[in-house]
Amino acid sequence: MTPQTPFPARVPDLSGVRGAVREVPAYPFTPIDVPHKLDQNENPYDFPADLKRLATERMLARPWNRYPDLHAETLAARIAAFEDWDPAGVVLTPGSNLLIKLLTELGGIGQTVLTVSPTFSVYTLEAQMLGANLVQVPLNPDFSLPVEGLKAALRDNPPGVLYVTQPHAPTGFVDAQAAVRELVEAADGWVVVLDEAYYQYSGTDSRPLVREGANRLSLRTFSKAWGLAGIRLGYALTSPTLAEHLRKLVPAFNIGVLAEAALEVALENPGYVQERAQEVRRERGRIQAALQDHPLWQVLPSQANFYLLRTPDAEAAYRHLLDHGIVVRRQDRLPGLTGCLRVAVGTPAENDALIAAARAFR
Ligand SMILES: *Cc1c(COP(=O)(O)O)cnc(C)c1O
Repeated sequence: MTPQTPFPARVPDLSGVRGAVREVPAYPFTPIDVPHKLDQNENPYDFPADLKRLATERMLARPWNRYPDLHAETLAARIAAFEDWDPAGVVLTPGSNLLIKLLTELGGIGQTVLTVSPTFSVYTLEAQMLGANLVQVPLNPDFSLPVEGLKAALRDNPPGVLYVTQPHAPTGFVDAQAAVRELVEAADGWVVVLDEAYYQYSGTDSRPLVREGANRLSLRTFSKAWGLAGIRLGYALTSPTLAEHLRKLVPAFNIGVLAEAALEVALENPGYVQERAQEVRRERGRIQAALQDHPLWQVLPSQANFYLLRTPDAEAAYRHLLDHGIVVRRQDRLPGLTGCLRVAVGTPAENDALIAAARAFR
């Protein structure tokens, strides 16, 4: 093979790239290859092997030379039946992160993106890249929603998109239903997104609240509790009216036939999801109890499949865990999260490794 010609070493003129894109940092993630991957909140178990086989057979039977559905209508109908939702209000993309970009295009560009701080980084990165008026209100010290502050921001800014994450990421906190309702009801005219990426672990469900207003939307994903992060599928449950506008922004034919086959099989065999979510809840409690009397590290309460570890020195704690073959996510530079690492709940063996490593820290 001929070696690639390098780009010339002169100062690049990239004025064709918008300033907002040049200024925003790339999504902060570096893959690290260690035995225990607890840094991405993934399901530690793969999609069940028998279902994988069924999905593969279905993939073989489909034509690969033809375009898939324009907007994955067949799969949307299956999801609608599973979620007890109007199919006209279901919008699918390869991963819900793409829906966040499209929602920012829908309501954020030239308008406002309102969320809390700290928050899921994709909301803020997209808002910055698309030049939205990004407004963030600090969480309360106990990680609950700053309802009064958010209501003031709703009044003081031109409307746009409001992101509420339940359970919250990266804290795992779940708010009182009344607080969420008060906030959502104050956001008339705004596009209100309830990101429920982790709802299977908390047992919460915003569908009743979303059903009460055409401006409301629940964001869900197959990446976490379903154990299908590698397949890439996220969806919105919303009103047919809002879905119609959102769908205009979704690229045509964007769900391939292979993903469609895998998801159909998952939706026909959803029993494993609750079983595993149950194990995560059990393990979460076990880890919390095991590290209760740790002299230096504190496990913060969470209702998701991850938890924050508060340490006196995040760098030292991160290094120590890495030395024990465990990779976690640093969150200590986020406001209010000094010293914090975010750790996914793994298999019982992985959680044992985490507990042992934590106890070995001096
Ligand atoms: C993991 C996660 C998602 C899911 O992203 P996908 O693109 O569907 O994998 C969405 N929101 C939050 C808050 C998350 O943590």
